[in-house]
Amino acid sequence: MRPEQPARVTRSAAHLRAAHPDWTWRVPPPAPAVTEATLLLAHTPAHLKRLAQPRDFDADTPFFPGIGDHARRAVSAALAAAEHALAQRTPAFSLMRPPGHHATAGQAMGFCYLNQIAIAALHARRELGAARVAVWDFDAHHGNGTEAILRSREGFLFASVHQYPGYPGTGTASFENCRNWPVAPHTSRAAHLAALRESLDAVVAFAPDLVLVSAGFDAYARDPITEMTLEENDFATLGRWLGASGLPAAAILEGGYSGDLPVLIDAFLSAWVGH
Ligand SMILES: [Zn+2]
Repeated sequence: MRPEQPARVTRSAAHLRAAHPDWTWRVPPPAPAVTEATLLLAHTPAHLKRLAQPRDFDADTPFFPGIGDHARRAVSAALAAAEHALAQRTPAFSLMRPPGHHATAGQAMGFCYLNQIAIAALHARRELGAARVAVWDFDAHHGNGTEAILRSREGFLFASVHQYPGYPGTGTASFENCRNWPVAPHTSRAAHLAALRESLDAVVAFAPDLVLVSAGFDAYARDPITEMTLEENDFATLGRWLGASGLPAAAILEGGYSGDLPVLIDAFLSAWVGH
């Protein structure tokens, strides 16, 4: 009954492979390829130890056997996507789970165990020569973990549009290098999209060398765990805007729990590729 389940990825992969036989698929390097030093860019040593201990983290975030390795594979794919975006300057998408943007330096929460987008952002600045990295988070939930990890760090911008009130209850104000657009439940599509446009304008104004996108599809009108109103075509709009920005970008799957997730991802990616 848990909404964050393997079918999200298996169904999306099957749909995208059938719809786009010309797209290139890559399997990320296996979990051990992600070094401890890379994970420690964003997380505490105690957190990495805790991932191996068979106790639930919170009600949404149970322990599963091998969860540390599953999360490391999601990190591995995020790193590969960021590397691709910088080297090839063509769209790259990480279709992996678990999601990551709620995980803080020391705490797994909200279906998230390791914060792959924050790790990829820090890795890109330290190892890949990207002096300025922006994270654009359009998941319906606030990326509290990403914000907490990147806050006050030079060379980073975090921009998030999310439902408020809503889980996890943060992201009500902007400060330092973190820009937040809280959007009330049942806000109209037009008003939600206007906030998203403003947030992307802030990303573009930052003049990043790399944009990493926390691509969550749970602001969809028929998502079972939120109260937002976006439609399939709105995710296409986000992809078109991202492509038109001309910025090197990699997107990483965060949330999205409706049965329509495969077509929402397709709409976003197709518009991004074909903008
Ligand atoms: Zn979400």
